[in-house]
Amino acid sequence: MKNITILGSTGSIGQNALEVVRHFPSEFHVVGLSTNSNVDILERQIKEFKPLFAAVIDLKAAKKLESRLSCKTKIFAGNEGLNFLVSEKKVDRILLAISGSAALMPLLKALDCDKQVALANKEALVMAGPLIAQRAKNRFKRIIPVDSETCAIWQCLEGKNKDDLKNIYLTGSGGPFRNASKRQLKDASVSKVLKHPKWKMGKKITVDSATLMNKGLELLEVMFLFGVSLEKIKILIHPESVIHSMVEFIDGTYLAQLSATDMRLPIQYALSYPEKLPSSFLGIDFYKLKELHFERPDFKKFPCLELAVQAASSLGTMPCVLNAANEVCVAAFLKNRLEFLAIAKVIRMTLDAHRNITKPDLGDILEADIWAREKARRIIG
Ligand code: NDP
Ligand code: MG
Repeated sequence: MKNITILGSTGSIGQNALEVVRHFPSEFHVVGLSTNSNVDILERQIKEFKPLFAAVIDLKAAKKLESRLSCKTKIFAGNEGLNFLVSEKKVDRILLAISGSAALMPLLKALDCDKQVALANKEALVMAGPLIAQRAKNRFKRIIPVDSETCAIWQCLEGKNKDDLKNIYLTGSGGPFRNASKRQLKDASVSKVLKHPKWKMGKKITVDSATLMNKGLELLEVMFLFGVSLEKIKILIHPESVIHSMVEFIDGTYLAQLSATDMRLPIQYALSYPEKLPSSFLGIDFYKLKELHFERPDFKKFPCLELAVQAASSLGTMPCVLNAANEVCVAAFLKNRLEFLAIAKVIRMTLDAHRNITKPDLGDILEADIWAREKARRIIG
């Protein structure tokens, strides 16, 4: 029985993780849950899973929840609650499913507390990859990847000699606008962007999937998680999303990880690792599938991807600035305050205005994050 805590339990990944727990009640015990402010969903989760602790970042929402609950779950309010949850002795594994840069400090704290982290969040890694990798390595702790692509690469590389690796093929569906014209991209509305052809996810990552910034963030994720240089990572558009990524070795052989497009599968593996549990989730029907397709990404049509490659070749504080400007742009787009095609323009202007710090410490990263947010907001106006 593993004691797990899910940070961001009210989101898409968090709810899928609890679905996994429902399937394996004798394998996982939920010790802690958290939300930013969605106390309606959290209340239902607390009643079902009876965790010892729950954290609500929004202070008013926390009070509201406390007044409604009569069970033994101890409720924490504000960011301090997250600190408590990640350092709690009873927890074996933490699933980090908070979206955006808010995951950075809980991740660092969890590593400092020698916890194993199943990492769904990608923004924290993009912001501070080398720093996180160093902390994880120094403490001989593994970060277990949950993102379907990084989880796939991790499985392909398990037990292999790093010197034998030639290339990584990072696959992606191409998003809802893979075949869209320039005109359709110009008119892309929030509702069209939020209709992803393959995955049902939180709003921020769904917008990132439409701009292909998601693939760009994953490129950085792969570099930092596996210590691989940019030149060895090939982005491959694969509309069926059956191959979740591939690895090529120096002897000309390839390994790929395949599974249904269902986030419960990588979440389950990240929670149960090193064990594999018998899954009742859907498999792949190869007789129906018949064909798989592959394409080169179109960097001109999706400039966010090109910007991510630029940040990945500069490194330093550039990936952090890329991420912060993107978060500001996505939030503005979702509020109808920025056009779809303007997202890349604002990010480019923010990156161009930034003076890179090549070997940043945590203070430099946090400063660059604040600077980039202000800059992007000013550009949006
Ligand atoms: P959601 O928006 O659905 O959920 C985010 C969760 O984080 C919610 O519980 C939310 O609370 C909480 N949260 C938001 N802001 C804060 C904050 N400032 N402090 C603390 N908690 C906060 O996101 P997803 O589940 O889609 O994605 C989560 C992460 O996983 C992202 O980094 C994403 O890139 C990554 N990921 C997601 C995939 C997916 O299939 N969804 C696939 C691969 C990676 P509240 O409900 O109150 O807003
Ligand atoms: Mg992914």
